[in-house]
Amino acid sequence: MSNAKKTVTKYIIEFFEEHPNEEIEHGRAVDYVFKFIPKARDPWRAIRKLYQEGYLIKVKKGVYKRIPGYKGHDVLAPFPPEIKEQIFKRDNYRCVVCGNGLHNGYEICADHIKSQAQGGQSTLENGQTLCSEHNLMKWTNEEKIWNYRFLEKIF
Ligand SMILES: [Zn+2]
Repeated sequence: MSNAKKTVTKYIIEFFEEHPNEEIEHGRAVDYVFKFIPKARDPWRAIRKLYQEGYLIKVKKGVYKRIPGYKGHDVLAPFPPEIKEQIFKRDNYRCVVCGNGLHNGYEICADHIKSQAQGGQSTLENGQTLCSEHNLMKWTNEEKIWNYRFLEKIF
């Protein structure tokens, strides 16, 4: 990646960070980049790449949105309800880490063993039951790894 390209991406991130949760026509972000780098090449491609990497959400064609904290996690294809139910049933409605679950009043959720970012599928085999606490722990760990890899790539 050339330095110029890195800078384009940086300005695009800057623009979306300044307009969180807003549906942005990609032209607006592109104009912003051109303000700083009049000869910027392919800012559109940089936007698309940020979408593919899970930084941006594509609302519709040419319209993107940044939700603070969003990592493309489980949003691509969450477990279908019937698969989720099968996962819970197989795990006896208990967290596979600590054993807390519906029987003693804990919230449970279906988690991707191999995360979707790594190509994990929303299947029974790739699902496990976790309590909120352990789901959050896993999330936080993945988030750190994700952020690290992401930033390393861009800056
Ligand atoms: Zn647990």
